[in-house]
Amino acid sequence: MSGLPLISLAMLDRHAELLRQHGLHVTAQRLAVLRAVANLPHGTADAITEHVRDEIGAVSRQAVYDALNVLADHGALRRIHPAGSPARFEDRVGDNHHHLICRECARVLDVDCAVGYVPCLEASNDHGFAIDEAEVVYWGTCPDCRRAGQSRPADAAPAANR
Ligand SMILES: [Zn+2]
Ligand SMILES: [Zn+2]
Repeated sequence: MSGLPLISLAMLDRHAELLRQHGLHVTAQRLAVLRAVANLPHGTADAITEHVRDEIGAVSRQAVYDALNVLADHGALRRIHPAGSPARFEDRVGDNHHHLICRECARVLDVDCAVGYVPCLEASNDHGFAIDEAEVVYWGTCPDCRRAGQSRPADAAPAANR
């Protein structure tokens, strides 16, 4: 059938409730943005814009960017800023999970926190900052890209150039 994302009433309810919880007005655009992010975890604003357009038709890129930023600023979405990549958005918030990012294809995967608490929030020296976030990103090469790059000897001595 069509490539339309699955829209369930349960999801609509959940997203409307999420907006209210964060003190935000429920609008069709915000709901569409939340659905797009749910269908496209770690999507960039551009990718999410395309997704929203597929669903509700004409909407300006700026409107989607604004909605994403409002949602992230209010904690309804999480925004991550991998080095060298545009910001990415996801709806898995509040659990402080980490990310695995492939250097070759830029895919992003969630990984649960290894230690169960916010990483390294107790900095050895906080220099007087009130620290509220520490970000852990594991950079590497995903299995697909590793297979594609098999020409390199895979079991050579661990690379000393890091
Ligand atoms: Zn990859
Ligand atoms: Zn994530």
